[in-house]
Amino acid sequence: MTSVRTEKEQHFIKLLKHNALKVTPHRLRVLEEITQKDAAISQPDLEKIVGKEIDRVTLYRILSSFEEKGIVHKIFDLNGTATYAICSADCSADHHHDQHIHFICSVCNSVFCLEEISLPKIPIPPNFTLHGLALNAVGLCDNCQKEV
Ligand SMILES: [Zn+2]
Ligand SMILES: [Zn+2]
Ligand SMILES: [Zn+2]
Repeated sequence: MTSVRTEKEQHFIKLLKHNALKVTPHRLRVLEEITQKDAAISQPDLEKIVGKEIDRVTLYRILSSFEEKGIVHKIFDLNGTATYAICSADCSADHHHDQHIHFICSVCNSVFCLEEISLPKIPIPPNFTLHGLALNAVGLCDNCQKEV
């Protein structure tokens, strides 16, 4: 295929190469879908969209490799469903810097990254190791607000 790459695609290709991941149509497709909307995308929704082209196991592998490399981060929505959002540029393998609050809409269950609000430093007991911190703001998104 010799189609012209869009700017977005070129960015994704760079991102994959930078993280030593092979550029494959499946990986590009998943990145495309994750960045499609402002809100994060849940794994079941992703499966629905790309399910015909990418089988579940492959999709699962792609998502976990992206997470490992610092390309996406996982947020659990109000139902506890894994939801993925693209990381900011300063995330790298094993070093996520997505220490921000997530806004979850209680009506449509959409998850939004509130990048500008960072999480407080949590004093943890000595001898404990902190692996992550999740703080969610719950309310109505702008879309659902309009319908009230
Ligand atoms: Zn990250
Ligand atoms: Zn909503
Ligand atoms: Zn986020």
